[in-house]
Amino acid sequence: MSKSDYYELLEVQRNADESELKKAYRKLAMKYHPDRNPDNKDAEAKFKEINEAYEVLSDPEKRRLYDQFGHAGVNQNAGAGGGFSGFDGFGGGFEDIISEMFGGGFGFNGASRGRNSARKGKDIRVDLTLEFEEAAFGKKQTIEYLRTEDCDVCHGAGNEPGTATHKCSTCNGTGEVRYSQRSLFGESVSIKACPTCKGKGETYEQACRQCKGHGIIKKRYTKDIDIPAGVFHGANMQLRGEGDLGQNGGPRGDVIIVLRVKAHKHFTRDGNDIYYDLWVRYAQAVLGAEVMVPTLDGKAKFTIPEGTPSGKQFKLKGKGVPVLNGYGRGDQYVKINIEIPTHLNKKQKEALMSFDEEMTGKKTSTSESESDQKTQPKGKKADKKFFDKMKDALNGDS
Ligand SMILES: [Zn+2]
Ligand SMILES: [Zn+2]
Repeated sequence: MSKSDYYELLEVQRNADESELKKAYRKLAMKYHPDRNPDNKDAEAKFKEINEAYEVLSDPEKRRLYDQFGHAGVNQNAGAGGGFSGFDGFGGGFEDIISEMFGGGFGFNGASRGRNSARKGKDIRVDLTLEFEEAAFGKKQTIEYLRTEDCDVCHGAGNEPGTATHKCSTCNGTGEVRYSQRSLFGESVSIKACPTCKGKGETYEQACRQCKGHGIIKKRYTKDIDIPAGVFHGANMQLRGEGDLGQNGGPRGDVIIVLRVKAHKHFTRDGNDIYYDLWVRYAQAVLGAEVMVPTLDGKAKFTIPEGTPSGKQFKLKGKGVPVLNGYGRGDQYVKINIEIPTHLNKKQKEALMSFDEEMTGKKTSTSESESDQKTQPKGKKADKKFFDKMKDALNGDS
């Protein structure tokens, strides 16, 4: 595999100094950062290449080897550090530069660091619980959350109106401080927000009494949204640009609504289909019956055909959940379950036994070995009948 030249990748001269390299790297890393190029594989690959190039060229020793031996020189050298296999393989100093630029980890979200680059604001997560039917048919919903706004007293300036500001003496007004750090790859310099002025570059004679000098405040915010029909448990909805304020002209973050859907007392859901367990009596399953079943649209008449076995499933076409962002609906399945009665009284038991005898032509017993005298008071007579039937059977008459 032929690799691109590191200097060409960073679009710098071969004699570029440290600050030129860094400037070039920042510009390109911002341009190709995955957050700015969602689902763009080319940009992601380019981003990795740029990072790799900068990792090497920003390290004097590795740069010397690269200049002398090309890629072979640094790839051998890089082995001990885990190489450049992916986003996790970077050295410590390197991550600091990334997080300084993007504010914490990989992503544009995060705390204020540095002060010059535009950064998207933080995303805000809002959890929302829906009833089963609300998820099925959608609803209008008002959500409420806290998000950052410019302070309405100082209008974002941070100082109490009418009071003076001074250039920060710690960072000399740049908002940044530099730290040298030794890592596996040698010494690297990282830049962090100035701890005195928090990256603003100035200090206040008197900080704004409302925002304590931050320039921003958290405010309750409400938003009306449309939950579309067919959403499901665990689904996320993204409201672009409704999150926290961006920095240095960057856009607001997003709001991520995480949907939860409550269980239903009748139905379970699988995709757009819903399932309902219908319990019927033995006689209803055998003889057939007309019953009412719940559906998402209210009660509906349902005919159990004669001779329906337990476990049989019937489909009510189009009675399921509407297809999310599409047309049509899933189906409702009605599963037949036959109730086994318990605690029968004497009369019921007798009726059942005589039914069973009618079906089998045999005496019904609650135990296989001997008939139960308590539940069968006419045991003797029945026994006789039983033996008569046995005889008939043996004679081949039955
Ligand atoms: Zn303020
Ligand atoms: Zn400062």
